[in-house]
Amino acid sequence: MADLNTRLKEAQDVAANPKKMMAQYLKAGKKVVGCMAMYTPEPIVHASGMIPMGLWGGQVEQKVVKTYMPAFACPIMQSCLELGLRGSYEGLSAAVIPTLCDVFRCVTQDWNVAIDIPVIPLTYPQHRQLEESIAFLVSELETVKGKLEKICGHAITDDAINASIDLYNQHAAAMRTFAKVANDHLDVITPEVRHAVFKSALFMERGEHLALMNDIIEGLKALPVYKHTGKKVVLTGITAEPDDFLAALSGNGVAVVADDLGQEMRQYRTEMPAGANPLERIARQWQNRTGDPLAHSPTNERGEMLVEMVKENGADGVIVCLMKFCDPEEYDFPLIHGSLKEAGVPTLSLDIDQQPNKYEQAKNRVQAFVEML
Ligand code: SF4
Repeated sequence: MADLNTRLKEAQDVAANPKKMMAQYLKAGKKVVGCMAMYTPEPIVHASGMIPMGLWGGQVEQKVVKTYMPAFACPIMQSCLELGLRGSYEGLSAAVIPTLCDVFRCVTQDWNVAIDIPVIPLTYPQHRQLEESIAFLVSELETVKGKLEKICGHAITDDAINASIDLYNQHAAAMRTFAKVANDHLDVITPEVRHAVFKSALFMERGEHLALMNDIIEGLKALPVYKHTGKKVVLTGITAEPDDFLAALSGNGVAVVADDLGQEMRQYRTEMPAGANPLERIARQWQNRTGDPLAHSPTNERGEMLVEMVKENGADGVIVCLMKFCDPEEYDFPLIHGSLKEAGVPTLSLDIDQQPNKYEQAKNRVQAFVEML
């Protein structure tokens, strides 16, 4: 087993260089399929033998994209499209794009018109508890599977998808274990390192990442428990990037002890249940998601869930990483803020952007927040 530091460094390198990972897979003769944030049905891609590669944008000046999107579209989708328009995704055999909000819908069409990589759109139903929703989503997934089969050139069998689902579930369990074990080692697992470990999963074949996680977990368990004396927070939102933003936390002695981030733990909270039909297993996972602004719920599950996360992890407060112009997150904010306030949990909301930004203001606001805790 490689030592802990080597494995953590590997995760940080992968998180910082997704393009390098894509080049490695292409060089090895693999086809690579872009999986747009969030909730693309990756096990179907994985079962085809192609590599699912996360598309989560990046820190990039948004210029060309202005021809296709209004300035008030969320920065993550703007940067994904900007990178696509600049040719950064060349080499992908296709891009799967779920339509989870209005911006996603526009992106599927913009991509279709402007980027020379086939797009595979997918609609998630929002009346999730109806059985008709399951039937609808299974039919959507059948369409995705059919399009992927044309690209990989062979049938994607139920057995192969079930095996990939089992691997993804195993990996999700490892990520949950990591999140717990990391809290005993907040000297090693700083906010930046924690984020890199989660982010690296988006750009590695799932079995390879599971092996990486097993080494990291074992390495951490072998260390003596570290007592963190600074403040602890829970993060919620779509992403908590870039590292400059996270440096505002670590620079003020703040540790991240749990998260409800779309790019991180939201991906791993809900497993795909057992069943014979693999596409129905994926559809049932969507039905079972809770506390997620992208998966409609008639109750304020997310607010209650955040209060529980604070209690369970001994956190001092919650930082809402509010993706600029993200309607689903903004609509949720008054609800979650209300629950946290009622429970006496201090909350700070900070804007997340994906354009080069120094985050000086965030540093000051985190410092003031920490002084209040
Ligand atoms: S959910 Fe929010 S961040 Fe994601 S695409 Fe929609 S508006 Fe953008």
